[in-house]
Amino acid sequence: MDLENSGIIVTILGSGTCVPSLQRSSCSVLLEVGGSALLFDSGPGTMRRLLEANTSIFDISHIFYSHFHPDHTGELVPLIFSTKYSGGRQRRDTLTVAAGSGLLDFFGKLKDVYGHWVELESGLLNLVELDNKRRDSLRFTNFSVESAPMAHNDESIAYRITGPDGSSVVYSGDTDYTDNLIDLAKGAELLICESALPDHMRVEGHLTPSLAGQIAAKSEVKKLVLTHFYPECDQVDVAQQCRKSYDGPLILAEDLMQIEVIR
Ligand SMILES: [Zn+2]
Ligand SMILES: [Zn+2]
Repeated sequence: MDLENSGIIVTILGSGTCVPSLQRSSCSVLLEVGGSALLFDSGPGTMRRLLEANTSIFDISHIFYSHFHPDHTGELVPLIFSTKYSGGRQRRDTLTVAAGSGLLDFFGKLKDVYGHWVELESGLLNLVELDNKRRDSLRFTNFSVESAPMAHNDESIAYRITGPDGSSVVYSGDTDYTDNLIDLAKGAELLICESALPDHMRVEGHLTPSLAGQIAAKSEVKKLVLTHFYPECDQVDVAQQCRKSYDGPLILAEDLMQIEVIR
């Protein structure tokens, strides 16, 4: 594969929420960029969906958490435990886990409960905290990541990943309407945006289809994917609600859907 000019392959692993569903697993997105496989959130069920996407936990080099709600982080402990007791295969490369400020404290508390069951051999687990009060960034060999604070939890951040060919994918995580997301997503090839509840059921801390559409329109993204659907979303015409504010390319996420992003 020509890594220099390659784009980004997005696989929706979970388009749902905390509500148990056979159709919509909890929040998680797989991103393949520059030869690396990254996870964005890992709600319960993520490892099974990864298998369905023909990806092993050992292929994952980075996990980026938008925030610590269980429907976004629930599979972290099982994933580390599976890494330790994998029945054959071993992790050789470091797993980097990144999130907003508070990650070290969060992981420290998991360790208080699970002890050495969530410890990997020295050097195999790298925890990175990003600023949750202002824009921040990280550079890796084949891709770069920018983050911005979101309006949901204290630690909530969204991510913008830019691949070797310059194409960008933005992952909102959970958020209410915020200019920070519009700024972060400016001109991106793809915005994967939460749209938790239909317009008439709007709650604080989350977006609706028409609000997500407003953000997509203002940031002039090339394509919008709506995800993080509570079951109520499957009772209404989500696309029509989004069309009140956005007329660009629109995709409603389904589990295991793949989207190729090239510049
Ligand atoms: Zn949340
Ligand atoms: Zn959520």
